[in-house]
Amino acid sequence: MVKVCVDPGHGMSNRTHNVFDPGAVHVEDGFTFREADIALKYGLTLKDVLRSRQVEVFMTRDDDTDHAPVGQRARNAKDAGCDAFISLHLNDFDDDNANGFEVLYGNDDNKNLAQELQTALLAVNGLKDRKIKLRDNVAVLKFKGPAALIELGFIANDDDREVILNPQKRQAICEAIAAVVANHT
Ligand SMILES: [Zn+2]
Repeated sequence: MVKVCVDPGHGMSNRTHNVFDPGAVHVEDGFTFREADIALKYGLTLKDVLRSRQVEVFMTRDDDTDHAPVGQRARNAKDAGCDAFISLHLNDFDDDNANGFEVLYGNDDNKNLAQELQTALLAVNGLKDRKIKLRDNVAVLKFKGPAALIELGFIANDDDREVILNPQKRQAICEAIAAVVANHT
């Protein structure tokens, strides 16, 4: 049976032991949006979608108290017997007008996976296509096997955030991710 690691970015002990890393934070009308929370919601949805496709799932973290040091996530996934690794993040930039989504990959073996994810996501999220990007210095992308890091959109951009927070969109985005991952495991 295929097993996929779902990695909601940031969270407890991500960078420093016992310190919660919220990732990018954006305050709008008195409400605080945290990347770690949104990524976790996506992670849990993706878990459900994958399991409904008879794919086993290993989560690097299930909630805000799970310790998940970023430098150990890829190894933990390998130790858990995972065949593929999908990391979920949101982008951030000083300029709130920055927008769109992108898929990062760590080596040439994963370029096709990244491109297929990018194309599948474009069809369902309607956000700006920022293209795939090679990043050979990202810890989780050192996973040995199919691996990608999805920047779902910009947390500080109103249009991106509206799409990302929409539950129907979240479901469609996770279905799209699962369909692509199934082709690479
Ligand atoms: Zn992040």
